[in-house]
Amino acid sequence: MPNLLTKGIDTENMPDKNGFFGEFGGSYVPEALEKVMEEVSSAYDRISNDPSFIKELKELNETYTGRPSPIYHAKRLSEAVGGAEIYLKREDLNHTGAHKINHALGEVLLAKRMGKKKVIAETGAGQHGVALATAAALLGLDCDIYMGAVDVKKEAPNVSRMKILGAKVIPVTEGTATLKDAVDAAFKAYLEDPVNIIYCIGSVVGPHPFPEMVRDFQSVIGIEAREQMLKAEGTLPDAIVACVGGGSNAMGLFSAFLDDKDVAIYGVEPAGKGLETGMHAASMEKGKKGILHGFKCYFIQDEKGEPLPVYSIASGLDYPGVGPQHCYLHDIQRVNYVSITDREAVEAFYALSRMEGIIPALESSHAVSYAVKLAKKLGKGKKILVNLSGRGDKDIDFVMENYPLSDYEPEDVIKDGYDEFLTHISTKVSSPL
Ligand SMILES: *Cc1c(COP(=O)(O)O)cnc(C)c1O
Repeated sequence: MPNLLTKGIDTENMPDKNGFFGEFGGSYVPEALEKVMEEVSSAYDRISNDPSFIKELKELNETYTGRPSPIYHAKRLSEAVGGAEIYLKREDLNHTGAHKINHALGEVLLAKRMGKKKVIAETGAGQHGVALATAAALLGLDCDIYMGAVDVKKEAPNVSRMKILGAKVIPVTEGTATLKDAVDAAFKAYLEDPVNIIYCIGSVVGPHPFPEMVRDFQSVIGIEAREQMLKAEGTLPDAIVACVGGGSNAMGLFSAFLDDKDVAIYGVEPAGKGLETGMHAASMEKGKKGILHGFKCYFIQDEKGEPLPVYSIASGLDYPGVGPQHCYLHDIQRVNYVSITDREAVEAFYALSRMEGIIPALESSHAVSYAVKLAKKLGKGKKILVNLSGRGDKDIDFVMENYPLSDYEPEDVIKDGYDEFLTHISTKVSSPL
């Protein structure tokens, strides 16, 4: 439903009142949760049309997160590629270093208005947990984060961040002690006290109204970017590109451009070690329709319809399913879904670092890598806008350990250009994952 957050952009009146984007989405939850979801949904409809809520969120976006995030013309990278001009929407400059703060602030503000005492969520790599813990600290709510015991060990810096911010990190030891088990544990806790607690989902996934709500909170990215491009360049981009895990940063960018039929849209999924290896998380390309985590979408599954383990070098893209609006946009062919391997993402990670002084998140590196391919294809005079969803500080140790470039001289990049650079990197990569 249209509201004050999405005023002026084309949401195609989606989802419908039951949360469907075409055949995708909806709310497939246990009976006990149905009433709870309806309560969240009607509170969201009310609050998203309340000017005082919009004002409060806008103020926080500006004074706390640092919005609007700039659009940056990556001139050296564009020149090295020798094709279309590449522009970056700098979500990496947000407080906490990624786009997730956009929906975390919205969700926690909503929780506060609903009179909730506590926000809870699951987290895998800890990025959503940190964003939510930040918003909860800011707005004075308790915060419990459920995390697989395996992930608690693996993601020590984010566990420390959450604890410093005052959140309780609850290790989940059931099952494989990873993300899926954390989701189950968090939902169980939610059902025990839905009056005082609200579950805050970390992407445009889950039962209605979360795909809509998270999209709306993220739509600020596209609304700003569209205006900024028009102002700086006097024209819209020819193409826009974003990485797709659950799909929130991508929906945030895409939603302002859906109506601009001349703007080509690309969602980039993780091809991991290669689509043929089974070690990937390309839900759109390799998934089938089914119900996952309370909503209908394409997801990677076995013959019985159970989600299969998925893999990506970027832990934020490592999800078997994909948001329902993406599934719809895929089927009506408004958005092209493509994929990028781990290695291609690492190449872009280094390229952007060396040519622009911007270390991108490995998630965002997938979008940058595809934009480079597309820039060559589109050629000179065209413009591509990439959503740089987050910064890569969290990934530096991992990259240095697994993809070291110790003897590499940045001057070679400038001299040889991007193609040479990619070849150079490929030969220097010592241990492919
Ligand atoms: C979590 C994360 C993503 C993936 O989530 P989406 O919901 O698909 O946007 C992408 N980039 C960064 C930096 C992230 O932290």
